[in-house]
Amino acid sequence: MPTLRPVALVTGSTSGIGAAIARRLSNEGFALVLHSRSSVAVGQALAAELGDAIYVQADLANEPDRERLVQEAIAAWGRLDVLVNNAGISQVIAHADLAAATPAVWHALHEVNVVAPFRLVALAESALRAAAQPGHPACVVNISSHAGVRPKGASIPYAASKAALNHMTRLLALSLAPDIRVNAVAPGLVDTPLTAGWTQAQQLWKERAPMQRAARPEDIAQAVAMLVASHYLTGEILMSDGGLNLT
Ligand code: NAD
Repeated sequence: MPTLRPVALVTGSTSGIGAAIARRLSNEGFALVLHSRSSVAVGQALAAELGDAIYVQADLANEPDRERLVQEAIAAWGRLDVLVNNAGISQVIAHADLAAATPAVWHALHEVNVVAPFRLVALAESALRAAAQPGHPACVVNISSHAGVRPKGASIPYAASKAALNHMTRLLALSLAPDIRVNAVAPGLVDTPLTAGWTQAQQLWKERAPMQRAARPEDIAQAVAMLVASHYLTGEILMSDGGLNLT
């Protein structure tokens, strides 16, 4: 069903940060492709609620699913203007517990947090280029983490995967300009299902962060919307941690 609206694909958009990004872009006039690994009923309900939105289930650890997701996204609306690589996984492992960070953990996190976003950009590249107009490039936003910038985070494999995503963001920004801008948002702690039990981190943000709280998913969605609205910014890693990195 072709649309005159710009189209955004937001991965991992049935919960947490991704759902907030999808709602925000929908409010700003985008037709949406929602996606998650497993919560089909939630995705379909959100698509019905937003209107001009479809939902696609796909396991991003798996290449045929990545290919199908991008094909179905483009087929749904006939164009693709924005790709938000939000889906990601984390595993909490004490940084000093080297034995617990097994090869299996490294491979699993790398596949979903690094390989999948790269492959989605590669698979969507021609559609994104086709949507770009002179002076109005298409756009990719990767959701990385402050853990990819500072020596922090749920585990060393998680932090290293997000550092790789940040560097990939800059490399792709250089390779895909001027048709496609590529930026990242690097949240600190965000109140989502992923972090519901992270009481120590919540305390840290309350006591040490200049903004005295963790982010709400809507704060991160606003940062994404700012990057999407720009026609110029590219290669930026926008730290969104309430200023914790200043302390
Ligand atoms: P969440 O668990 O609520 O959402 C994660 C989403 O990723 C889900 O929709 C899930 O379906 C999807 N996903 C995970 N593995 C997948 C797979 N194999 N295939 C397809 N989809 C998959 O988490 P969230 O907190 O909203 O996190 C969203 C992003 O923000 C992640 O990339 C995360 O690393 C990043 N982030 C979160 C925080 C935080 O404090 N919550 C902080 C920094 C960065």
